[in-house]
Amino acid sequence: MDCLFCKIVAGKIPSYKVYEDERFYAFLDIYPCSEGHTVVLPKKHHGRFTDMSQKDAADLFSTVNKISKVVEKNLGLEGMNIGINNGEIAGQTVPHVHVHIIPRRKGDGEGNMHTIVELHPSTDNLEELAESIRNSFD
Ligand code: 5GP
Ligand code: ZN
Repeated sequence: MDCLFCKIVAGKIPSYKVYEDERFYAFLDIYPCSEGHTVVLPKKHHGRFTDMSQKDAADLFSTVNKISKVVEKNLGLEGMNIGINNGEIAGQTVPHVHVHIIPRRKGDGEGNMHTIVELHPSTDNLEELAESIRNSFD
């Protein structure tokens, strides 16, 4: 398959591996946002997080939890951002699902989830919106 991260997992492209088990793999991002920026992915190819089963997603996040604790301790961090660019519109550039662990340090820019999108919509329809989403569960 012509997928960069599948090739990294298969060892066809080198990476700075920090973790590997039967189903998951993690390496240092080659264009890090901060020192220790780590990417965690399932070995099995899924395009987006929302393409995964609930079980696979739960196992992915369990692994992210394990790795982020080690990164936090090893680098002596006070915190990090942990997240996914889910789909091209959200900034995903490699179409193989992966979770970013981005170490944060004082004076590093202070961005957070609230600054990803600058446009803040009206909140007039929150009741209808919540009801609509609630009613869409199978
Ligand atoms: P995305 O933008 O899809 O959420 O994240 C893709 C990430 O993969 C980016 O942070 C980018 O720096 C990283 N990346 C792209 N190509 C390579 C590569 O060849 N090796 C490594 N280690 N990371 C890469
Ligand atoms: Zn892949």
